[in-house]
Amino acid sequence: MLHAEGPLLTVDVGERTATRTDIDDLLEEFVGGRALATALAHDRIPFDADPLGPENRAYLSTGPLQQSNMSFTGRMNMTGLSPLTDGLVSTNAGGYLSREFTGTGISALELVGQSDEPLLIHVTDEGVEFEEVPELTDALVPEVSEHVAETRDLGPENCLTIGPAGENLVRFASVMTYNSRAFGRGGLGAVLGSKNVKGVTFSGEVEPSIEIPNPPEMDIHREAATSDDIRKRQGTTAGTRLKNEKFSLPTRYFSEMSFEEIDSIDGDAVEAKKYKKGSCSACAFACKLPLRDEETGFETEGPEFETLYSFGSNHGVGDLLDIMKANELCDTLGMDTVSAGVTVAAYLASEDEFGNAELAQEVTEKIAYREGIGDTLAEGVDRCHDELGVENWSVKGLEFAAHDGRVIQGQGLSYAVANRGADHMYSVMLRLEYGGEIDPKGTLGKADILVEYEDRAAFRDTGVVCAFGDGYVTDEYLAQLFEADFEELLSVGAETVLRERHFNNQRGFDLSDDDALPYELPDLKAAIQEYYAARGWNEDGTVPEGVVESVASTAAD
Ligand code: SF4
Repeated sequence: MLHAEGPLLTVDVGERTATRTDIDDLLEEFVGGRALATALAHDRIPFDADPLGPENRAYLSTGPLQQSNMSFTGRMNMTGLSPLTDGLVSTNAGGYLSREFTGTGISALELVGQSDEPLLIHVTDEGVEFEEVPELTDALVPEVSEHVAETRDLGPENCLTIGPAGENLVRFASVMTYNSRAFGRGGLGAVLGSKNVKGVTFSGEVEPSIEIPNPPEMDIHREAATSDDIRKRQGTTAGTRLKNEKFSLPTRYFSEMSFEEIDSIDGDAVEAKKYKKGSCSACAFACKLPLRDEETGFETEGPEFETLYSFGSNHGVGDLLDIMKANELCDTLGMDTVSAGVTVAAYLASEDEFGNAELAQEVTEKIAYREGIGDTLAEGVDRCHDELGVENWSVKGLEFAAHDGRVIQGQGLSYAVANRGADHMYSVMLRLEYGGEIDPKGTLGKADILVEYEDRAAFRDTGVVCAFGDGYVTDEYLAQLFEADFEELLSVGAETVLRERHFNNQRGFDLSDDDALPYELPDLKAAIQEYYAARGWNEDGTVPEGVVESVASTAAD
């Protein structure tokens, strides 16, 4: 099977050492991206590690397709122990970093330890350099990029950066690249903050060593370039109106399920403010959304659909400019727009202040610096809802994505059992239910398809292929690209989900509290048992003993 190539680069930021380890055997088994990083994280992060302690490890990894110029591959993976969920999370970002990363010749970066000074780490094809940057304390994400441009002549596409939120250990702090692209979910920005790592740059001249089969490489590229798919104009916001019509757009902290001001925040409203094309490296689909408000001149990239919900409908805010401002705040301060928006929505609910966009933005900024109420909210909904006196809209500590599981109930089941918590990208079951391929009502009888869709998503994050590539990078094309049967690709995905679950089990995750929803769904308990059975797991949601073997212990260092 095609797989990423190059050593694992381990950087101990406390010791200021860098070690390269040959991991060819691991790459043959786990391909790259999320599967590789999960195998490493499973075996090398102690099961009892503090997510914000030096023993936690953060992994950045690409798959083999990042050595191509194929559309839908300008993305890469990040994995670590989450300070928000307390379990393993993987998150995925676009931009241009994946190509700069492969230019250094490594397949994965591992960060461990804790520095006593704020650091920038510079990774090139020649080695690793450590730069102490106390002057960048509390610097905004673009300010770090400016520093790197001035001192190294590198662009934002070379940078992996945290903002003040990461430094201040906000549990949903993001890691940013290209200033506006986020490794968003799960708080890995706080993990970098706990290590005192303000950023990492990547640059190098290593030429691609992997031959990507062509066809289908060029066919996929051509189809992405010539398609008239509405998502090329409206990106993820294209389906906003549909979700609203299906009562799947949570509104006013989940108290309603559709938003009366949809006209001002739907895909057409977003497209009206788009002033140029935006893309990720090598991607002819170019779905990104650089927006400008002509009246004020305010610019930001996005908001994506999830932000229209988290800072729009869920706040009772129908002014797109306000959502753009909140989006820009989250990007520059370095916070996941979904978790930040939902947590601020919880605050607005507690204060009876829905619709107050100015207050929402003020509180968002306070979260990043942990000022006043911001210190409470920086812990996320799961940890602060009692103090606020509102319901806990999270699963495993992760705040909900938009697509409402009360309506698309297979997606609800997915939220309940996903190792990452209430994240729609963990299985993307929602596509089948919105599209009518399966009945959105009910949870029973959906376990097998949920398992398949989790495995698909896990392999996609391993390859690494953008979720928007569905329909272009077909199952047949994937099998051709990876020179394997599609079933083999699914097994790599399954192995990834298994290792995440096994790691989380060792931290005490099981059926008792963790695979649960804050709302009732028909037959949910029985459906969860169907899911465990389809996975071959125990009735309490744990992985049977002896199924997972260690493959990447640190003893080999
Ligand atoms: S489809 Fe959009 S998000 Fe995906 S790689 Fe292309 S530009 Fe990036």
